[in-house]
Amino acid sequence: MKVHLKQIPSEGLHLEGEEDCPIQELESEEIRCVGRLHYDLDLGVAGGALWANGSLSQPVELRCVSCLEKFEHEIRVPAFAVHMELHGPETIDFTPSIREEILLNLPAHPHCDRDGDRVCKAKQLKTTEQQLKRKSDWSALDKLKLKR
Ligand SMILES: [Zn+2]
Repeated sequence: MKVHLKQIPSEGLHLEGEEDCPIQELESEEIRCVGRLHYDLDLGVAGGALWANGSLSQPVELRCVSCLEKFEHEIRVPAFAVHMELHGPETIDFTPSIREEILLNLPAHPHCDRDGDRVCKAKQLKTTEQQLKRKSDWSALDKLKLKR
């Protein structure tokens, strides 16, 4: 995402839109972009520096560390903020800062049930095991009763 200084009026500029996923070159088995980056930013120039703040979101597909299944997750950066000294080029590229923020907000150990909209199969399996165990505990108790 590039902004030319001349595009920014003194009262500031609001920019909202989409652009290509900034972490495409990092795609692997564990992470894949499944949509475009959405940005909603306020920009301004003050005291020889450019500032920007707002929010970012990037939908990705991750692999769950528990069940190894792929799931979609939206990386959200609710308080993106940058401050850059202005010297030299009049075109400012926000992509490196955006990429860095997206990566910082990437879950290190992604779990497919983190958003609460699905149940992780690995956990489901555990629950079933526990239920089975509980049942056998009861049947052991029943046998005990019969012996008396
Ligand atoms: Zn899972």
